[in-house]
Amino acid sequence: MKIGNQESAKKGVFVECGIHAREWISPAFCQWFIAEAVKTYGKNKEMTKLLDSLIFHVLPVFNIDGYVWTWTSDRMWRKNRAPTPNDKCFGTDLNRNFNISWDGIYRDDEPCSGGYAGTAPESAPETQAVTRYIRDSLSSLKAYISFHSFSQLLLYPYGYTSEATPNHEKLEEMAKSALKALQSLYNTTYTYGPIYTTIYPVCGSSIDWTYDIGIKYSFVFELRDEGEYGFLLPEHDIEATCEETMLAVKSMANYLIDQDI
Ligand SMILES: [Zn+2]
Repeated sequence: MKIGNQESAKKGVFVECGIHAREWISPAFCQWFIAEAVKTYGKNKEMTKLLDSLIFHVLPVFNIDGYVWTWTSDRMWRKNRAPTPNDKCFGTDLNRNFNISWDGIYRDDEPCSGGYAGTAPESAPETQAVTRYIRDSLSSLKAYISFHSFSQLLLYPYGYTSEATPNHEKLEEMAKSALKALQSLYNTTYTYGPIYTTIYPVCGSSIDWTYDIGIKYSFVFELRDEGEYGFLLPEHDIEATCEETMLAVKSMANYLIDQDI
């Protein structure tokens, strides 16, 4: 779904949710974002300013069959549900299937494991659809924000190497102010940093790919909590998580506008 004032907004932000099936707070946030944006445009001064300047391209559920599977059969499922070369095991980890260091030393080539990278870069139809869309919209896309859970982290490239990105300081600055805004509501604390050094090395992840093709403000949120409930975040935490995360996203959007990125 594209949200923004098409008359005046020339730049875009891609918002990706639900790439990992069991991380239910992620699609919940995308739905929340869409509802807030359309309800408060023209009423809330800040939201109006943001949507007059930026088009948000929101993908609420990247991994559709995996997500359905978590509702019907296995709450802790992560990958999609496509067949693999092993006829007993299903699913590609879509966040390992992007064409960036796909074949690197951290690649998981075991079809039965949770991080299976697929048979080739962009082998999954979901990855193909999203990368096609992003390539087509590339000239306007200035930022890419992916939502996962859990651990309360705000991460940026790279994931496949410990090297710092050319605009590392800008990414850090943007993350810091976003997290200050997030914390202001319920005092929720996050850690920030590059994926590789903050959590673990990954190959073929979406934000490394978007960064590599030119979207220099690419981020990943790992939303609440810190592990008490993990993927099974209780229903009563959904609203608070979405509200505070919204403040972080608004801060990032303001940064793009104010710095004329
Ligand atoms: Zn995830």
